[in-house]
Amino acid sequence: MATRTESDWVNWHQLGCRPSHIAEPRSLAELRTVLREAAGRGSRVLVVGTGHSYNDLSLTSETLVTLKYLDRVEHIDVDQGLIRVQGGARLAELCTVLAGHHLAFAVLGDTAGQTIAGAISTGTHGTGLTKHSLSGQVAALQLMLADGSLREVSAESDPDLFQAARCSLGALGVVTAVTIRVVPAFTLCRVDRKVSTEEGLALVGDPPEIDHFKVWFLPYTDTAVTSSARSFPVSSPARPRTAQRLRESFLINGLMSAAGAVARQWPRGVPAMNRGMANLPMNSTVIDRSDRIFVLPISIMHDTFEYAVPLEHGRAAVQAMLDAIDSTRPPLALPCEVRFQPAEQGWLDPHYDQPSVCVGAAWHRGVDVSAFVRRVEEACRDLGGRPHWAKPHSLAAPDLAPLYPMWNRFQALRASLDPTGLFGSTAIDRYLGTNTSTREIPNS
Ligand SMILES: Cc1cc2nc3c(=O)[nH]c(=O)nc-3n(C[C@H](O)[C@H](O)[C@H](O)COP(=O)(O)OP(=O)(O)OC[C@H]3O[C@@H](n4cnc5c(N)ncnc54)[C@H](O)[C@@H]3O)c2cc1C
Repeated sequence: MATRTESDWVNWHQLGCRPSHIAEPRSLAELRTVLREAAGRGSRVLVVGTGHSYNDLSLTSETLVTLKYLDRVEHIDVDQGLIRVQGGARLAELCTVLAGHHLAFAVLGDTAGQTIAGAISTGTHGTGLTKHSLSGQVAALQLMLADGSLREVSAESDPDLFQAARCSLGALGVVTAVTIRVVPAFTLCRVDRKVSTEEGLALVGDPPEIDHFKVWFLPYTDTAVTSSARSFPVSSPARPRTAQRLRESFLINGLMSAAGAVARQWPRGVPAMNRGMANLPMNSTVIDRSDRIFVLPISIMHDTFEYAVPLEHGRAAVQAMLDAIDSTRPPLALPCEVRFQPAEQGWLDPHYDQPSVCVGAAWHRGVDVSAFVRRVEEACRDLGGRPHWAKPHSLAAPDLAPLYPMWNRFQALRASLDPTGLFGSTAIDRYLGTNTSTREIPNS
């Protein structure tokens, strides 16, 4: 077992921490030993995936555990459309394995760099009002609890723990295996179309019934781009994608990274630059294997926020975001992404019991957009929004508790499964409160 002391850990966003211990168990028995030894030292445990969370969720000064060696595919049931994998398996590799069996994830977000356990633990989603998040596709979980015991959890075997654990930020235990629903392999045809801001807003208020639909708003312009991806039950691309991938990569990384230099050096130049960019041709049609369409070739360093706002308030929230751009003039040189999600059942899923519009903005690392973010957060909160767990936001447990009807039941389970508060970190304390077995939680 590779256990290093005083090592640094750096997440995807180059945010670092110095855990007291880093453990990379290669078996469940080794993981159990890691938990026991951490408990013996009085150290809390934070399990991480690939550190793709934009905030401090994967940072700790105590014991950090990665499941990078617990990444095997355990079972594929092609007929039932189920795959069981270890918690450290990465989505990108799973896409390849699934494609080999003519299967695919029904939906993915903008990247596939995450682990399956990390992705479900924060409610990672794609877009589409009928397309459940990855956490929503989970059929069963295996959890290692604080005492080292293993619990197989499904909606049938333990409905409460299942709904609590499917999106639980690592606070209930280690997700050591996940059984997730998959679908027959499919091709996606994505059509991007330039529209006016007004038309984009109208579509947010009344989204079309398209498998995967989203809208990008380009700040300081009268330009939005709708992205509509429809599924086809065929698995081979209808046209070669090399040229399109190069173009996409150029637009997302080349052009956007040049835009970042302007945003950092000359923030006042951003509106004019964006207006220039709005003149670029943006209409396109791409057809490819589903995962290659879902995943965008993003490599530029950026920061972001996202709120899940009840569907009926989505248009108002996006309008508030556009108004905040006008009033606070942030150097936003990246488009604002607006996506759609059905209601989910996971107790702490930001889409719990509420179909949502996911209102997000992104900006280049190092530019100051704080006044803008404050304004949009206020508006989204007023409209009943819940922040994405893995993206920076200003809310702490007392603010979050009233937003989640099942908060107290989650905390009661947390206290009973982890009575000594083994799982946690400073970030988990802030977002979920300290484990109730050791301290009182806010009332919801
Ligand atoms: C470029 C980029 C694009 C993104 N696109 C999207 C998107 O389209 N949609 C979206 O919703 N999100 C998106 N995200 C956010 C991302 O999906 C989440 O941050 C996700 O949680 C990252 O997974 P990870 O494996 O890196 O987990 P980490 O960031 O390492 O950990 C996240 C949380 O999961 C917990 N965790 C990890 N592994 C386990 C385990 N085995 N058992 C228990 N708990 C565990 C951790 O304790 C932590 O609380 C994006 C992030 C990036 C960097």
